[in-house]
Amino acid sequence: MTTPNPTAGGPQAQAPADNGFAALALSPQMLANLTQLGYTQMTPIQAASLPPALLGKDLIAQAKTGSGKTAAFALALLSNLNPRRFAVQSMVLCPTRELADQVTTEIRRLARAEENIKVVTLCGGVALRGQIASLEHGAHIVVGTPGRLMDHLERGNLDLSALNTLVLDEADRMLDMGFFDDIVKVARQCPKERQTLLFSATYPEGIAKLAQQFMKNPEQITVQAQH
Ligand code: ADP
Ligand code: MG
Repeated sequence: MTTPNPTAGGPQAQAPADNGFAALALSPQMLANLTQLGYTQMTPIQAASLPPALLGKDLIAQAKTGSGKTAAFALALLSNLNPRRFAVQSMVLCPTRELADQVTTEIRRLARAEENIKVVTLCGGVALRGQIASLEHGAHIVVGTPGRLMDHLERGNLDLSALNTLVLDEADRMLDMGFFDDIVKVARQCPKERQTLLFSATYPEGIAKLAQQFMKNPEQITVQAQH
């Protein structure tokens, strides 16, 4: 009796919200790739954040660990990206090298659908020289920790003039680790005309302060943990 019948109902009857990715403005190749990856339904944070993110809005998105936040921002930054323009168009700030490596892996999996998108990881604890060589070869996307990204910017190794998407991932952890000032400095090096996406598992006070420094009228999205 509780099974919805799509042919029943009056004028207000709507197609059931199936939370599939097909409702989003994504390329057919990207949709096929998502299916191949086994991503058939959007997770709740993806369903809430992708529509405004794909419209170019700034977001502060909060959902617990393991809820699929990486794909939420990765699909948004990939949709802003022109693969034929070989310049850094997106930058993702992460708290640690391990997390930056995970984000890089996920972006590469999602970017498979597009032609040759180059992602470079820039974290501390790794020799600068190899990173400089990678940057000289060119990149569409850089993923890194705030301190090392700042270092490259100060040395003039990283040109952000073509950047259109800035992502702060695990913002709460970056604040815990004392990265507030570095994040603000890095954000100030980005073009003003850009989209900024902030993702976090929790919403400590520092997040709003951070957002005030460099986000434009951010939409706030919270997906509560299910108990
Ligand atoms: P978070 O950053 O919120 O902690 P992740 O982005 O690391 O979460 O995602 C957790 C896991 O869920 C990953 O293994 C990822 O591949 C998987 N995942 C993400 N989105 C989907 C989806 N729509 N369908 C199935 N699996 C997904
Ligand atoms: Mg994450």
